[in-house]
Amino acid sequence: MHLSIDRDRCIGAGMCALTAPEVFDQDAEDGLVVLRTAAPPPGLHAGARLAAGLCPAAALTVTEQDGAGSSPPGEQ
Ligand code: SF4
Repeated sequence: MHLSIDRDRCIGAGMCALTAPEVFDQDAEDGLVVLRTAAPPPGLHAGARLAAGLCPAAALTVTEQDGAGSSPPGEQ
């Protein structure tokens, strides 16, 4: 998993930092999102996905990078 943030879109709602505080933080001065880690460990993936889905500004992008060992498309 790779995460990226778009601070130009962020409105400082803070949902991400509340939902996944290990992954996202808010800038103490402007309140905008701060990415604590772009490559969170597997245990934090669910929270990161949830936070990205909850962001009202769609400022969080999750890129799934399973790499080797992932199932090819169409296989379950
Ligand atoms: S939830 Fe979205 S808008 Fe709110 S602080 Fe996080 S990135 Fe910014």
